[in-house]
Amino acid sequence: MTELAVAPAPTDFIREVVADDLRTGKHSRIVTRFPPEPNGYLHIGHAKSICLNFGIAHEFNGVCNIRMDDTNPTKEETEYVDSIMADVHWLIDGWADKNLGGAPLYTSDYFDQLYEFALELIEKGKAYVDDMTPEETDEFRRLGKESLFRNRSVEENRDLFARMKAGEFPDGTRTLRAKIDVNAPNVWLRDPVLYRIRHAAHHHTGDKWCIYPMYDWAHTLSDYIEGITHSVCTLEFEVHRPLYDWILQALELPPPVPHQYEFARLNLTYTVMSKRKLIQLVNEKLVNGWDDPRMLTIAGLRRRGVTASALRSFAYNIGITKYPSMTDMAVLDHTIRDEFNRTAERRLAVLHPLKVVLTNYPEGQVEELEAVNNPEDENAGKRKVPFGRELFIDAADFMETPPPKYFRLKPGGEVRLKYAYIIKCDEVVKDSSGNVTELRCTVDLESKSGGATSNRKVKGTIHWVSAAHAGHAEVRLYDRLFTAGEPDATGDFKSCINPHSLEVVTAKCEPALAEATPEKRYQFERLGYFALDPDSTATKQVWNRTVTLKDTWAKMEGRAPSRP
Ligand code: ATP
Ligand code: MG
Repeated sequence: MTELAVAPAPTDFIREVVADDLRTGKHSRIVTRFPPEPNGYLHIGHAKSICLNFGIAHEFNGVCNIRMDDTNPTKEETEYVDSIMADVHWLIDGWADKNLGGAPLYTSDYFDQLYEFALELIEKGKAYVDDMTPEETDEFRRLGKESLFRNRSVEENRDLFARMKAGEFPDGTRTLRAKIDVNAPNVWLRDPVLYRIRHAAHHHTGDKWCIYPMYDWAHTLSDYIEGITHSVCTLEFEVHRPLYDWILQALELPPPVPHQYEFARLNLTYTVMSKRKLIQLVNEKLVNGWDDPRMLTIAGLRRRGVTASALRSFAYNIGITKYPSMTDMAVLDHTIRDEFNRTAERRLAVLHPLKVVLTNYPEGQVEELEAVNNPEDENAGKRKVPFGRELFIDAADFMETPPPKYFRLKPGGEVRLKYAYIIKCDEVVKDSSGNVTELRCTVDLESKSGGATSNRKVKGTIHWVSAAHAGHAEVRLYDRLFTAGEPDATGDFKSCINPHSLEVVTAKCEPALAEATPEKRYQFERLGYFALDPDSTATKQVWNRTVTLKDTWAKMEGRAPSRP
């Protein structure tokens, strides 16, 4: 498959700042970063952040660091670090991987420096060791009250902090706090905790530390240490920015210092996005792992068949703003269809097979009919599709007592078989319980597609597969994982899991599909876009439907199909 370039680079308020900073000479080289906490797999929201940070580095000839924000010793695992790296590479390789500034970095690699910075802050009289419990500290901060330990001498603070580090005190007995202003209107400035005691092994530093830095301290100074110029994060961190700036100023760090910019996170309908919730889905086996194709994780989207280029186009299409909003899932589907319509070769497959016998077609005769691989791409060429007396059509394309204006097959009715002939349904064969098992039809041999007399038109065209030549494949059809547009708003996101989010069928496939490869995407005509699942073996193909051909949910919800 030809890897598509991402949509044209967008402009937004962050890119404008970056361009300005280069123009005015404030920075000569842009350094951004993507700082995931390795406590879960990355999701589509992270993809937005990755495309923004790597996109900026890519467009402005800079660098983007991946930094594992691993300050919490107990919640982080190596499995997550590996998955994060695999997902980031998949998303940016071939596009912006040149801008990957050596990977990955770890906040925990800076623990020594962060400790030295803390000592400096103590020396400047701007931090103190507090003996209050975490609960007392929270309460005092809420009330805007000073701790009794706030005015300890530099000497005592230095001594106690060293002893905290040496492991003399149990968890929760002491913290290091910044000395800012306990009455500040912004609670983040009310003497925030910078270090806490945790006697716990860390996945990266082992038993070396029993004090761990808090997010703001670690994050701000990691940005400084790495020479980040533009520290881009989501809106929740806007209230942290004064603390970010305070830390840089209090330490009187020589320039260049980083600056933080905030944008609205991605929220998508019909999904949950927080790792805490995604972990519950995985652990409680409500899905089949982090890479379940119904999950909006990067691993899930990849397995489902979404390409990195489609995901990047999505991230670029939705844009970067300052205002919280909800993006319709239909926008993602639309972006995928838009790419696959151009790149995917067409094939014939039948998901719910119903046998058709063409009573006037000679037994044993096989014709090789010509089919266009991709009407959107001349270079995709043509292929031969075998046609014979016995076929399969989709059960959904036949109705015994259809409503008016039903243009597919019905008793006495006619329909065109794609790339082939017009057939007429003469007889419906049923089993003892009344289920339709076979249709007996006649074929109009003068009506061959592309033939001299092919001008005769009928209203419906359906897909089919020759029974004698059909291959079998497992096909997994996905629907949205949640029935509610905003599962988070229901108060119990697990109560609105869609019980019909996965349907597995055994399909009949045209022979050319046997040659399918996992890198390629295919349009099964009239059914959607499909990709091979890694569960496929040499003898059995397993297909995932990445996306349907139309926005079926728009119809159900009575709204017009959305456009990006
Ligand atoms: P979650 O709330 O899903 O657990 P998080 O913010 O805790 O996410 P991190 O690993 O800390 O996850 O995120 C790494 C980076 O990805 C951060 O810079 C964060 O701002 C960004 N990010 C996380 N979620 C989104 C989202 N929905 N849209 C855009 N960026 C996001
Ligand atoms: Mg986080």
